[in-house]
Amino acid sequence: MSVQVQAIRGMSDILPADTATWAHIERVLAGVLGGYGYREIRVPVLERTELFRRSIGEVTDIVEKEMYTFDDRNGSSLTLRPEATAGIVRAAIENGLIHNQRHRFWSTGPMFRYEKPQKGRYRQFHQFDIEALGYPGPDIDAELIIMLARAWRRLGIRHLELQINSIGMPEGRARYREVLKDYFRAHLEQLDEDSLRRLERNPLRILDSKNPAMQELVAGAPLITEHLDADSAAHFASVQALLEAAGIGFRVNPRLVRGLDYYNRTVFEWVTDQLGAQGAVCAGGRYDGLVEQLGGSATPAVGCAIGLERLVELFRLGDGEAAAVAPEVYLVAVGEAAVAAALPLAERLRDGRPGLRLEMNCGGGGFKAQMRRADASGAVVALVLGEEEAAAGTVGVKALRHDGSQQTLGQDAVPAALAALLDGKCNN
Ligand code: ATP
Ligand code: MG
Repeated sequence: MSVQVQAIRGMSDILPADTATWAHIERVLAGVLGGYGYREIRVPVLERTELFRRSIGEVTDIVEKEMYTFDDRNGSSLTLRPEATAGIVRAAIENGLIHNQRHRFWSTGPMFRYEKPQKGRYRQFHQFDIEALGYPGPDIDAELIIMLARAWRRLGIRHLELQINSIGMPEGRARYREVLKDYFRAHLEQLDEDSLRRLERNPLRILDSKNPAMQELVAGAPLITEHLDADSAAHFASVQALLEAAGIGFRVNPRLVRGLDYYNRTVFEWVTDQLGAQGAVCAGGRYDGLVEQLGGSATPAVGCAIGLERLVELFRLGDGEAAAVAPEVYLVAVGEAAVAAALPLAERLRDGRPGLRLEMNCGGGGFKAQMRRADASGAVVALVLGEEEAAAGTVGVKALRHDGSQQTLGQDAVPAALAALLDGKCNN
């Protein structure tokens, strides 16, 4: 027997037992985003190395030590994409999608980083990327975050905390860099090897250090928010006001900086304490300088990337996994007249709520038996039609998994009641 060839360390197969969950999550994300005007874009997984050097930044973990870079047969240096924004911006510039235009894009696929494989951190991993090009914000910054909150709700994902910060503009950052250098220089003996190397060229990266021994020093560092220019401060205040008005909870984390150089102003992360050390599930921010930096005309932009492996893990911790296949609504119909009223009601509800998973009790049965099926189905809501309701044009609406509340409503009031029960089924 010959020796078995094995997969590359940190690169996993996604087997049939798992693909349904992945497909469900991708479908929900694409569906939610489609509802906000985001459209899919597909770009190559291989790009010229230069693209990533110029966008992500020379003195970053990714470019310094994580890229899969090789020469092709012509001697051109190519790199397997470590992230998607650079490729999407390149594609937008190259295909004339930048000048005087606005675009909302999403994309999904594998990314490659030579990292130390561990739970939640792989060498091939998948991201779901969201990019809005041509929008100065702060409205789109807030909308992006509001949209993500909706996606988490639709997926039944809880335990995510939103952290936001503003890292200002490059000029303010240059001033802050000097302040930071002074601070770290005064504590040279506490810097680890990576941080010493970064001290002169990119001291902001030290704030992003994952080394536990560095955390205390980092916690005492001066804050970037103290060096914001007036416009960035106003932008940040507006983002916060818009989020508050939309009822989105968040925490300002003045130490949040991102591991890629192209960000400015708004940065954010959705983090969880449920996945151990790898807690960042989605991260992003504004990158107003990147399009110009890559040769396009100056174009404001904002975007983020969801780490799908981590999102899948988190999804599995909730009741989302069962809910992904279970119906949301079970329609109980007892008696002939009720069935005749239930079928058109079900169609109207599906019309009004695309994607609704509604299972109608077909095949008869008494009230008790049908309610047992409703419970066993995993549905969130039972709609109940008996002879009486059918005659009166009403419907019983029973919450199966909340407080068990029950109400009798006119048929016209059912969509709103369903929306309240289904969309409110988990609070972030
Ligand atoms: P981290 O701080 O965890 O290294 P990052 O700041 O490098 O993340 P980004 O480049 O902003 O991450 O990517 C966005 C998201 O992609 C992260 O929040 C995470 O969910 C996911 N991600 C990043 N690197 C990996 C990896 N090696 N394996 C799995 N998921 C990853
Ligand atoms: Mg990283």
